[in-house]
Amino acid sequence: MPELPEVETIVQALRSCLIGLVPIKVICHKEKILRTPDLLPKALGYPIKDISRKGKLILLWTPPYVWLIHLKMSGQLWWQPQHKPLPPHTHLIVSFAETDKQLRYADLRQFGYWQIVPEGKLSQVPFLQKLGPDALSVTPKLLQDRLRKRKTAIKSVLLNQECLAGLGNIYSDEALWLAQIHPLIPASTLSSTQIERLAWAIKKALIRGIKLGGTSIRDYLHPDGRKGLYQNYRLVYRREGLSCLRCGMPIKRIKVAGRSSYFCPMCQKV
Ligand SMILES: [Zn+2]
Repeated sequence: MPELPEVETIVQALRSCLIGLVPIKVICHKEKILRTPDLLPKALGYPIKDISRKGKLILLWTPPYVWLIHLKMSGQLWWQPQHKPLPPHTHLIVSFAETDKQLRYADLRQFGYWQIVPEGKLSQVPFLQKLGPDALSVTPKLLQDRLRKRKTAIKSVLLNQECLAGLGNIYSDEALWLAQIHPLIPASTLSSTQIERLAWAIKKALIRGIKLGGTSIRDYLHPDGRKGLYQNYRLVYRREGLSCLRCGMPIKRIKVAGRSSYFCPMCQKV
């Protein structure tokens, strides 16, 4: 599943191609992908002013409307000329007034979605109302507030988008390894030193991910089809049995909240 660094990489790439363009036509082959088909005719014809991100959600600003795009498990955005064959599992195609290039949305597992919202009603979107602060903006104080009342394992709290938006399985493991915190420690019991370290580690892990263009292990690609590079520079994620990069102990894997979690039993003691 694309996490904050993958979505941020996509947003940066889309900004350089889409800003100023006017979407004039949308073809959608899968009803459930476009959640607001009734708003579509009204929302076409306005130039794209900005593209931003909140957690893992992409926001395409065409005032007076905002297009929300969530890639979920396997959504991919492609920026391709019309004559190129469609990528497999393409469900939605946006054409523009000024170019023959198209924004194409492919999604093998079809959990992702597009939603058009009038700008003034953005704050009423339930998903956005529940979403926690963006993980890239984390500070020790903010993290302390978010973790204080949560008694579950820190790993599952970090995965909870209502607590902090943007982290998934990869970068939460990386952050916990950097901060030397065991994934099963109850969030509310972390000391203020640990919280300070974790806030630093979350930012560090995410910024490394963005600099390397994200992680391409399964479906994630840049809009031009290139792969991210982070998979070659992982600190702990999917390194079970390999030596810890800090102390040399073999990395272990356990299940937390149904997800595989990788950690060093020496550096990340309970
Ligand atoms: Zn270690």
